[in-house]
Amino acid sequence: MEFKKCERCGCFFLSESNVCENCSSKDNLEISKLRNYFENEVPATSVDSISIDTGITVKNLNRYLENEEFSKFSSKLNINT
Ligand SMILES: [Zn+2]
Repeated sequence: MEFKKCERCGCFFLSESNVCENCSSKDNLEISKLRNYFENEVPATSVDSISIDTGITVKNLNRYLENEEFSKFSSKLNINT
């Protein structure tokens, strides 16, 4: 275990994950929102439009879309990596 900088709020914390405990609950909420979005709507073709539709920031979206479970969606999007 090492100190990491939270990718969401920038605070330092001790954990194996990429975000602190405070933010991981927010992350989980937004990830389930995103999961719903992909299940129920015709997904937008850009991260910007998904951000507008879901209210999730582009920065966070890019992070979630790196997850394995969203890879089939993210491969269709124009993501600057
Ligand atoms: Zn945080």
